[in-house]
Amino acid sequence: MKRTDKPSMAGILGWPLGHTLSPAMHNAGFRSLGIPCVYLPFPVDAAHLRDAVKGIRTLGFIGVNVTVPHKKAVIPFLDRTDAMARRIGSVNTIVNARGKLTGYNTDAEGFLRDLSDGGFSPRGKIAMVLGAGGAARAVVYALHGAGVKKVLVVNRNENRGRRLAKTVRSGVFVPRKEIARRLPEADLLVNATSLGLQAGDPSPVAGIGLPRGLFAYDLVYHRTTRFMAQAKKSGCTVRGGLGMLLHQGTRAFELMTGMKAPVEVMKKALLKALAAT
Ligand code: NDP
Repeated sequence: MKRTDKPSMAGILGWPLGHTLSPAMHNAGFRSLGIPCVYLPFPVDAAHLRDAVKGIRTLGFIGVNVTVPHKKAVIPFLDRTDAMARRIGSVNTIVNARGKLTGYNTDAEGFLRDLSDGGFSPRGKIAMVLGAGGAARAVVYALHGAGVKKVLVVNRNENRGRRLAKTVRSGVFVPRKEIARRLPEADLLVNATSLGLQAGDPSPVAGIGLPRGLFAYDLVYHRTTRFMAQAKKSGCTVRGGLGMLLHQGTRAFELMTGMKAPVEVMKKALLKALAAT
């Protein structure tokens, strides 16, 4: 009997957990493969995180996703973490294998799968990454692992940006005032800051000319941001973060179920859930 043959649960832990698209995406995947599992949102605050993680074992969940603000805080409560999650320092997926909890980070792989869907291959290219938070770390490790020649890291908090750039051999820290000078050498520009999350947020590169032909990627997935609009106007190829969200989810689904994710079904469910927000 496979782990996914008996009725089980999965879900997402976060706080505050507003509207999340993950249940729609995962439940569609379970239904399509006939897996008797239900995926639910679990709003859990920091004070109850340890108990919630214990509950994954006690209640025999197949796994959970983890979102802000617990991606780092959850690590001490797990039995182990995979190499990528350790490098990034954050976990977005926990898999329960016979009571042993392993933490993974599927954001890096989700980003790479979506870049590939968008027709961009990072090998040998130069990328500029804006931001040095959890998502930017995943992007920088993903790009480094995929063989970029150089990854230029820009961040408002320079110390944080410098620290991130130093963690990979291809990393180079670039101060914000140098963006315009360094941008012409880049093939890929990634907005991994939280600018764009709120309507009306400025572009992180407002007022800076973007070279035509640049591939501009914004991790924000639920709206056309000013960064995306600016890039489109400049003649860049533009891609939002919806595909990254899809693929971090399909990878998490595969880790939890041990089965190949029905990507098209999950994508359709994600788009439908997004349209309903
Ligand atoms: P963090 O809070 O960890 O990091 C935020 C980053 O944004 C930091 O580098 C911060 O700089 C920078 N920042 C915040 N405000 C400003 C500002 N006003 N000007 C310039 N820089 C700013 O967030 P995450 O890394 O978790 O998330 C970043 C974005 O990525 C969010 O929009 C999130 O929704 C998105 N995301 C999308 C995913 C997807 O699947 N598409 C997956 C994960 C995240 P500083 O260090 O100076 O504070």
